[in-house]
Amino acid sequence: MTVVDSRGPDPGQSPNGSSAVEDVDWEAAERSAVAQGTLVAAGADGPSAPIGSTMSSVGSGAESAVVDLGAGRGPSWLDAWLDTNAHRVVAWRRHIHAYPELSRAEHETTAFLAEQLTRAGLRPRMLPVGTGLVCDIGEARPGQRTVALRADIDALPLSETTGLPYASTVDGVAHACGHDAHTTVALGAALALAAAPSLPGRVRMVFQPAEEVMPGGALDVLAAGALDDVDRIFGLHCDPRLLVGQVGTRVGAITSAADLLELRLTSPGGHTSRPHLTADLVHALGTVITGLPTLLSRRVDPRTGTVLTWGAVHAGEAPNAIPQDGVLTGTLRTGDRDTWAKLEPLVHELVHNLLAPLGVGFDLQHRRGVPPVVNDAESTELLRAGIAAGVGEDALASTPQSSGGEDFGWYLEHVPGSFARLGVHSGVGRVKDLHQPTFALDERALFVGIRAMVNTALISLER
Ligand SMILES: [Zn+2]
Ligand SMILES: [Zn+2]
Repeated sequence: MTVVDSRGPDPGQSPNGSSAVEDVDWEAAERSAVAQGTLVAAGADGPSAPIGSTMSSVGSGAESAVVDLGAGRGPSWLDAWLDTNAHRVVAWRRHIHAYPELSRAEHETTAFLAEQLTRAGLRPRMLPVGTGLVCDIGEARPGQRTVALRADIDALPLSETTGLPYASTVDGVAHACGHDAHTTVALGAALALAAAPSLPGRVRMVFQPAEEVMPGGALDVLAAGALDDVDRIFGLHCDPRLLVGQVGTRVGAITSAADLLELRLTSPGGHTSRPHLTADLVHALGTVITGLPTLLSRRVDPRTGTVLTWGAVHAGEAPNAIPQDGVLTGTLRTGDRDTWAKLEPLVHELVHNLLAPLGVGFDLQHRRGVPPVVNDAESTELLRAGIAAGVGEDALASTPQSSGGEDFGWYLEHVPGSFARLGVHSGVGRVKDLHQPTFALDERALFVGIRAMVNTALISLER
C-alpha cells in the first residue's frame, strides 16, 4: 500500500505545517463546556438536555436528546467506551460541522482526525493526495480477515441556514450532506475498536476525501492500494427520510450511476427564411432534446431505471437568424451496472443517427460518473446482523434504490461490501433534505452509527 505515514516527525501536524487544532484545547474545551452546561444534546431542532443527564435515560421523553439508543447491547467494552466518550463524540461532530472543508481541501479535518487517532495510540496514514486517511486497528494474522469501514469527509459549496449554535463558520461551505456525521461515526468506531481487549482480525478505517465531486476520492483511495488486502467494506450515509434509530439496508443496487452529457452542435448558420440552404441548429437541438430520451426508452430495458433529463439548453439570439452553435447538457442515470457500461457508445450512436439527416456537426462529451452501489447479499446479511446486534432488530429497515450517485460504488467494483442508510430524522418537524441549506440531523444517529459499524465489523471478522 502506498499510503504515507501521516505521523511524520510530528503527529499533530497538518500538511501545511499548522497544528490540527491550533485554536482549540479539546479536552479543556469539552470539560468546560460540560461544566457550564453549554455542551448540550441537540436533535435536528436545536439544543435540549445536557448530555451527561441524557446518556442513560433512553425513553426519557426528551425527543431530541442525545441518548444512546443501543445502550447496554454490547459488547461491554463498546458500552463502556460510549458511556465515557459520548460527549466527545458529539463535540467532534460539532467541531467538524462548524469547520467544513470542500472536496480535496479537507486539510484541517484530516489533521484533526489524525490527531484524535494518534492520541488513541493508532497509526493513521495520510493518502498520497494530501487529504484523507487510512487507519488500521488490530492485525490480520494468517487466516484472519481485514474489514474496511469507510467515511467521506468533505462538505458542500453552499451556505448553511440552520441557525444552529455550531453552524458552519465558513462562508459558502457547509456539511449539508451529513459527512460530518459519517466522519464522526468512523472516528468513534475507530477509537471504540482500539479500546477492545482483542479483535478477531483487522479493521481498516477509510476516511475518504472528495465524495461530492467527480472523479471522486474513492478512486484516490483505490489508487493508493488501500483496499488491496481488504476482504469486505461497509459504509453508511445519512438519510433524513428514515427516523433516527433506523438503519436501512438493501441487497442489490442502493444508488444509481449518474453520467454527465454535454452536446455541442455547430452549423454554418443563416437566415431563418432559408433553412434548406444551411443546417437548422435549433431544430436539431429540439430533435435531440425529445428524440434521445425517447430512443433510450426503447433501446434500454425500462426495469433498469435509466433516465436522461436535460438540465440546460443554450442557442441563438435573434428570431430570424439560425445560430452557428448551441449546447445541451443533462444527466443520464441508471440503476443497473451492466447498462451503465453500455450507455456511452449507445448514446453516441443514437445522437449520430438523430443528427445525420440534419447536417449539423456535433461534439458529444459523455463524462461517466460513478457506478451504482451494488450491495452483495452476503455482506448485506452481515451488515443486518451488525445492526441487529448493535441497535436491535427494530432498527432494521428496508430502503429503496436512490437515483442519486455515491462513489462508494467504486469500492464495490473491487471488493464485496454493503452500504446502509442511517436514519437521522428526529420525527419532529418537516424532513430537511440532504444538500439543502437547512439540512440538520438528530445526533442520536451518531451512536446508532457507531454501534452498527463496530458490530458489523466484528461479526464480519468472526464469521
Ligand atoms: Zn452529497
Ligand atoms: Zn453524501
